Amino acid sequence: MIDGEAVAGRVRERVAVQVTEIAAEAGRPPGLATVLVGDDPGSAIYVRRKRQACAEVGISSIHTEPETSVTEAELLGVIEELNGRDDVDGILVQLPLPGHIDQDAIVAAIDPAKDVDGLTPTSVGLLARGTPGLVPCTPQGVMELLDAAGVELAGAEAVIVGRSNLVGRPLASLLIAADATVTVCHSRTRDLAAACRRADVLIAATGRAGLIGAEKVKPGATVVDVGVNRTEDGLVGDVDFDAVREVAGAITPVPGGVGPMTIAMLLANTVKAARERVGVATSA
Ligand code: NAP
Repeated sequence: MIDGEAVAGRVRERVAVQVTEIAAEAGRPPGLATVLVGDDPGSAIYVRRKRQACAEVGISSIHTEPETSVTEAELLGVIEELNGRDDVDGILVQLPLPGHIDQDAIVAAIDPAKDVDGLTPTSVGLLARGTPGLVPCTPQGVMELLDAAGVELAGAEAVIVGRSNLVGRPLASLLIAADATVTVCHSRTRDLAAACRRADVLIAATGRAGLIGAEKVKPGATVVDVGVNRTEDGLVGDVDFDAVREVAGAITPVPGGVGPMTIAMLLANTVKAARERVGVATSA
């Protein structure tokens, strides 16, 4: 069992030390700006958790909550202001945005040096060409989990199920950079089971509860479950955990696997952005 809570805890400890070092040198702690628009209760919970996590490691949190009726031009103005602020090292716009706003235009307006979600076209391009800037948090969290579990990636067959901009695609770039042989599957893949059974490292990121059963897993494979699905049985991943744990060599649970890593990597990205902006070298 790969324990995401434990690995995330170690990342947070590392970040807390770096925050102190940056604060001592720069005269201020790193700062993360969160922008929450609309009344989606899930988004509000996510932002609250992110702000709490910042407080726990000493990152200062700058929160903006424009009215749901905010225009795209006004929201672009908010981003411009945060881009220009010295005390803001990272900018996180909680998605999705209300339908009247062009989400891509807002994300693209974020200064790539402050793009702690790694979603601007500049960050995406840098990652795709193998010279990453700030990397999206969930895929980075998956890589950190694989590293903590001691999984050998060089030359390994890695299969990702899911090709979203948030998870599947950036993860493919990271795994290629780690010298894995990468296959990306999606809803049009003809023989998903055959592709998955080739995997030494299988990553599920589809949002389809139970999609990955034991018949899709090579004995001894490492299985990482990114999925989060609310079902009658509570929160479950994309992997049929009870069946797959019997064949897999290592597996992440849901909850307690990838989930805790996402926020931990947001903190790590904020520190990375701060370090590069203020020119402070930290211990790790
Ligand atoms: P998404 O944008 O909906 O993408 C889902 C992907 O899965 C798509 O590429 C889709 O293929 C593919 N897919 C759907 N059904 C499939 C099937 N039957 N067979 C093969 N592929 C299939 O979702 P996402 O944003 O990447 O998120 C994926 C899951 O991860 C969700 O459950 C989400 O809640 C979770 N998540 C968790 C975290 C975390 O911190 N733990 C963070 C982000 C996301 P097509 O492209 O062909 O449609």
